Amino acid sequence: MTTMAMIPLTLTDDQRALRAGVLEICRRYPGEYWRELDARREYPEKFVKELTQAGYLAALIPQEFGGAGLGMAEGALILETIHAAGGNAAACHAQMYIMGTLLRHGSADQKRKYLPKIATGELRLQAFGVTEPNSGSDTTKLATTAVRRDDRYIVNGRKMFISRVLQSDLMLLLARTTPVDQVKRRTDGLSVFLVDIRNLKGLEVRPLRMMMNHSTNALFFDDAEIPADSLIGDEGAGFAYILDGMNAERILVGSESIGDGRWFVEKAVAYSSQRVIFGRPIGANQGVQFPIAKAHTSVEAAALMRDKAAALFDAGQPCGPEANMAKYLAAEAAWEAANACIDCHGGYGFAEEYDVERKFRECRLYKTAPINNNLVLAYVGEHVLGLPRSY
Ligand SMILES: Cc1cc2nc3c(=O)[nH]c(=O)nc-3n(C[C@H](O)[C@H](O)[C@H](O)COP(=O)(O)OP(=O)(O)OC[C@H]3O[C@@H](n4cnc5c(N)ncnc54)[C@H](O)[C@@H]3O)c2cc1C
Repeated sequence: MTTMAMIPLTLTDDQRALRAGVLEICRRYPGEYWRELDARREYPEKFVKELTQAGYLAALIPQEFGGAGLGMAEGALILETIHAAGGNAAACHAQMYIMGTLLRHGSADQKRKYLPKIATGELRLQAFGVTEPNSGSDTTKLATTAVRRDDRYIVNGRKMFISRVLQSDLMLLLARTTPVDQVKRRTDGLSVFLVDIRNLKGLEVRPLRMMMNHSTNALFFDDAEIPADSLIGDEGAGFAYILDGMNAERILVGSESIGDGRWFVEKAVAYSSQRVIFGRPIGANQGVQFPIAKAHTSVEAAALMRDKAAALFDAGQPCGPEANMAKYLAAEAAWEAANACIDCHGGYGFAEEYDVERKFRECRLYKTAPINNNLVLAYVGEHVLGLPRSY
């Protein structure tokens, strides 16, 4: 039986306490912390450790496996709060949605073996290996193979833009187990593996220097052998398992954008209220004020759609349209706010010490990844509106 979904318009006392707890940690990691790591392209190890130890990254893991057993609304609030405080949860957001695949489709043994250790931070699961150089958004065309040999699978292929591999113990990997010409539908024959990547022979990791600090890599699998019991669920059913996790991913990543949007608006308001040029605060000019007001309006609208998506998710009801629309609106709103913020800062927006340029680079990613907004619109066009498939 499904529960009735209602969109809450205010936070509960527990949610306020949750946000206050996350904020308390964030205050110990101010702009300088993120700026210095950004310059060196280093992983925010200390921040992620503290967040893990406080239990926030295990928010969505059920209590029976050592997590907090909270809902999507709370997971979203945690990530939004980190971004609204000027931080970047991209270093640790994947665990929240990847572990769902293990939770929903893993065996009882796999869940018992991994989830409690993921909850405590003894094992880190932050790497998600889907994208490949030649398939990109067209996931079913991926060419990495996993071939069963006795009690092992032999993995060969290349992956592109796979983040946090060097900072994770485990990676969720999508690979083809049956060649595409031997399956009925091209979505068949793909399998999901939970791979222990610590010292995995046959896996080469080449870090990529990106526009922002994101610990992203190109991966090369050359006869890498993984135990057969790394397989999650049924062989060949992996594409559906990955799709199952997409709504959570969209809501959580959208929440980071909403946090970014709120940070940009707050910064823009503060700066344009105190910066006096031509004898008055620049924020008194409509050319400065209206873009900020418009961005705020967009961020709040995106947050409402995100709240709807999270409420449906937590009530166990279908939320594909809302999760996708929330991700789209949030990424666009954050980008609108980023531009309003950098514009009102004039030259200072480009100076590293203001953090605006760093957040500007960071928030731009979400228009493109984990899924680009064109494909979100294609989903809405086809699956929500019933228009012909566009690709
Ligand atoms: C910093 C960073 C971190 C990442 N981390 C991970 C990770 O951890 N794991 C992982 O698996 N992947 C990761 N990715 C990959 C990311 O998910 C992909 O970049 C993204 O899905 C797009 O794939 P692509 O880059 O190959 O673009 P392509 O698929 O080549 O598309 C290029 C552009 O063409 C447009 N396009 C393509 N097809 C269509 C269509 N049918 N209709 C309209 N427009 C279209 C889109 O606008 C798209 O932006 C990461 C990427 C970045 C940049």
